[in-house]
Amino acid sequence: MNSYKYVIVGTSAGGLSAARGIRKIDASNPLLMISEEPYPAYSRPLIAKHVSEGRTVETMQLVPSEFYESLGIDLRLSTRAVGMDAGARSLQLHNGTTVSWRHLLIATGGAPIVPHIPGRDRQGVFTFTTYDDAKAIAQRLPTVRNAVIVGGGFIGLSAADALRKQGVGVTVVEMQPRLLSTMLDMAASCLAEQAAISAGVRVATGRRVVSINGDHPQSLSVSSVTLDDGTRIQCELVILAVGVRPRTELAEGVASVGRGILVDESMRTTAQDIFACGDVCQTHDFARGQDAVLAVWPNAIAGGAVAGANMAGQHRIYEGGTTLNALPYFGLSVGSAGIVDHDSSKHDIVVASGRGYYRKVVLQDGIVVGMVFAGDTSKCGLIYSLMKRKVRVQEWKETLVSDEFGLLSLPDDLWRDEITAR
Ligand SMILES: Cc1cc2nc3c(=O)[nH]c(=O)nc-3n(C[C@H](O)[C@H](O)[C@H](O)COP(=O)(O)OP(=O)(O)OC[C@H]3O[C@@H](n4cnc5c(N)ncnc54)[C@H](O)[C@@H]3O)c2cc1C
Repeated sequence: MNSYKYVIVGTSAGGLSAARGIRKIDASNPLLMISEEPYPAYSRPLIAKHVSEGRTVETMQLVPSEFYESLGIDLRLSTRAVGMDAGARSLQLHNGTTVSWRHLLIATGGAPIVPHIPGRDRQGVFTFTTYDDAKAIAQRLPTVRNAVIVGGGFIGLSAADALRKQGVGVTVVEMQPRLLSTMLDMAASCLAEQAAISAGVRVATGRRVVSINGDHPQSLSVSSVTLDDGTRIQCELVILAVGVRPRTELAEGVASVGRGILVDESMRTTAQDIFACGDVCQTHDFARGQDAVLAVWPNAIAGGAVAGANMAGQHRIYEGGTTLNALPYFGLSVGSAGIVDHDSSKHDIVVASGRGYYRKVVLQDGIVVGMVFAGDTSKCGLIYSLMKRKVRVQEWKETLVSDEFGLLSLPDDLWRDEITAR
C-alpha cells in the first residue's frame, strides 16, 4: 500500500485549488491526486465550446501539463476511489489497490441528476457535465437536426446555445414557469427567454417531458419526446440538464452528510483529518445566512484553497460564498449573485431598466444581499465585492444601478479600500 501525507479525490476546481494551497506551505511531502476522468483538470464551464466550435480538452486545461510533476504531485487519472476505512486512514481504488493518507480531501463535485423519464436509456440521450459528455454529443451531431434540452438552468442553456450555433434546431423544456429560475428574477428571465427565442430556440416553460420515444417500440435511438400536455417534439438528441447532486458517497457512514458533506469553516468534515470542498459539500452562504451546497466555480476555488492550507497545518477560515454567476446566453450577458427573488417584507430593492438592460440590487438592513443584471454585467464584480464585505450602502443605494456607477461613485474611504483589495 502506498502512503501519502495528502490524498485528494477529485482534481477539478476544488481539488486543484487545495493542491496549490498545500504546496504553498509544504513543498515536499507526498501528495496524491485521484480522478476518475481521463484528463487533467479542465474548465468545466468551457465544455460547451467543444460542441459549438470543436475546442479540445488540451486548450481547456487549468494548469500546464508540467504543473503536477514540477510540484511533486502524483496524479492518477482514470482512477476511481470506491471506499475508505477512516480508522485505518486508507482509501480503496477501483482497481483493487489501496492508498493510505494522513489528510484526505473529498472534492468529488456533483453528478448529473437523471430524471426517471421512460426512454432515458435510448441512444442519443446525454447528460452534460463532463468533457466526455460534450465529446459524445459532438460525435452524434452529424445525424442530428433537432434537439430537446430538458432543463432551462445554466447548464441546459449553455448546451442549447452551443447546439444552435451548430445549426441544430433546439427546444428547451423547463418545468418551472421561467428559464434560469434559480439564477434570475422574473424580469431578467423574460429578457433571457426573448434572447433565446430571437436566436431561434423554442422554449416550453411550465412543461415536463414525460417520455423519450423511438420510431417504434424496438428502436434504440431517440426520435421524439412527449410533453405532459401531449405535444410531441421530433428530435434525434436529448440532453438531460435538470441539476446535479453532490457525490457524497465516499463520506457516507464516515462523516455527517446533509444535502452535501457538512464542513466547518476550516473545511473539515466531522471525521478526523478528512476535509471536503466544492460542489460536494455545504458551505456558508453569506447572503442567505445559512449553509447550502453552492455549486459554483468560485466557491470550489475559495473553499479548496482554505482546505489545502489547513491540511498543511495552517489555520485558515473560509468566510463563505454565495450563488454567483455571470454568463452570456444567446448574445445576452446575465449576471447574478445571492438573493434574486426578493421578499418585500424584509428586502428593499433598487431597480433600473431600459432597452435591452435590467439591473436590480436587493438590500437587507442597508446591505446588499443579492443582485440580478441582464444586458450589461460590467458592474457585477464591484457590487459583489460590496456584498461580500457587507458594506452599508443604504445612503447611496440608488447609484448602484445608475449608468455611471463605478469605483469613483463609492464614498472616499471605500474606493481606496476597494483599489487596495484588488
Ligand atoms: C456545463 C457546465 C457549465 C458550468 N458553468 C459554470 C459557470 O459558468 N460558472 C460557475 O461558477 N460554475 C459553472 N459550473 C459549475 C462548476 O463547474 C462547478 O461548480 C465546479 O466544477 C465544481 O468544482 P468541484 O471541484 O467541486 O467538482 P467537479 O468540477 O464536479 O469535479 C469533481 C471531480 O471529481 C471526480 N470524482 C468524483 N468522484 C470520484 C471518485 N470517487 N474517485 C475519483 N474521482 C472522482 C469527478 O469525475 C470530477 O472530475 C458549470 C458546470 C457545468 C457542468
